[in-house]
Amino acid sequence: MHSLNDLLESFHLYAECERCQRSMQLSVEKLIARLGNDFPVTDLRPRLRCTGCNIRGQDLRIVFVGPPGKRMVFQYRR
Ligand SMILES: [Zn+2]
Repeated sequence: MHSLNDLLESFHLYAECERCQRSMQLSVEKLIARLGNDFPVTDLRPRLRCTGCNIRGQDLRIVFVGPPGKRMVFQYRR
């Protein structure tokens, strides 16, 4: 299981609303400042709220971008 700290270097995090298709990039740095390094990524999902239609439980998309200076594009859903 990933914690926020695991995502910091090589991943981007997006929240996607199934209802209105809104997609928003989340700042991993800000999440760590608020929730701590060890916060499990899987626990984020129920905390996310769509800024458009105000419902919770958005889809979480984790995009692997590679370490700084070695960016690549690979994504998967969880
Ligand atoms: Zn929405």
